Amino acid sequence: MLRKMKKRLAMKRAKKFFVEYCDKCGSKTMMKKEYSYTHPLLGMIKILCYHEECPICGLTGWDYDMLGEKYFEEHKQRRKLLLQNYNPTANEYFSLKQMALLESRTENEILSDSAFNIFVYHLNLNGTRIYLKKSYEMFRKSHDGRFRLV
Ligand SMILES: [Zn+2]
Repeated sequence: MLRKMKKRLAMKRAKKFFVEYCDKCGSKTMMKKEYSYTHPLLGMIKILCYHEECPICGLTGWDYDMLGEKYFEEHKQRRKLLLQNYNPTANEYFSLKQMALLESRTENEILSDSAFNIFVYHLNLNGTRIYLKKSYEMFRKSHDGRFRLV
């Protein structure tokens, strides 16, 4: 419900501030509801968010709402691909407890470490967090445990 309301508000705001001409080439811009792009690690991402697009030069008007949608959809896609390709039942994950032992830190320290949150693929399942082994091993070697999931 909250997301629906947020979208409705965003649309109203977009309409109010709708600029009719492109900043770059001066052509008349169009209001679009959908934006899609290819993420290097997650593949095709489609977001539903009102924004302005120039049909001639392709300039796109972004705002913070759209960045929020982008973050949300990428998160959703990452989760979907992890569940699909790295099933948690196949024992490919470390529990938060195992992680704390491996790192010689407390569970809270792991949970609040932003490098861990960004660079180690993890899933929140049944109220607990689990970390993909492969991603953690990569992170230990190169400080970045992200890799192509598609
Ligand atoms: Zn343009």
